[in-house]
Amino acid sequence: MKISIEAPSHSKNQFLEQIERETGEDLSRCYQCGNCSGSCPVSDEMEIPVSQVIRLVQLGQEKTVLQSNSMWLCVSCFQCQGRCPKCLDPSKIMEGLRRLSLRRGRAPLAMSQVTGEFIERSPQQAIVAGFRKLFA
Ligand code: SF4
Ligand code: SF4
Repeated sequence: MKISIEAPSHSKNQFLEQIERETGEDLSRCYQCGNCSGSCPVSDEMEIPVSQVIRLVQLGQEKTVLQSNSMWLCVSCFQCQGRCPKCLDPSKIMEGLRRLSLRRGRAPLAMSQVTGEFIERSPQQAIVAGFRKLFA
């Protein structure tokens, strides 16, 4: 995916501050080694892999990050957390991004779409992960 980067319009990076406040993570620790993306089981399906999501948050690229499918595809497996040499928890950052999106009224699935038929044909893990995302 081609990403154009523009400088945030405000001098302070409010998006970064908001995510750090939300998650308790210090994103400046990330030095882009890529271990988290390399160990993520759904990285290939994400429009932006998790390490690049972190870099874009550092750069204040809120729109690009929140418009991507990455946070919604994260299955909260915590592989990234265990592999980060800087003791960051990228899964928490994905969770923080989901919470921020939901508060702004942006969700990939409306509750009205979760019908009996939908539940019957979905694997149990998908239902549990989906509800965690919708009710975080
Ligand atoms: S917790 Fe999410 S971002 Fe981290 S490795 Fe698992 S699926 Fe990927
Ligand atoms: S593993 Fe840690 S340091 Fe490496 S890119 Fe991911 S968050 Fe950054």
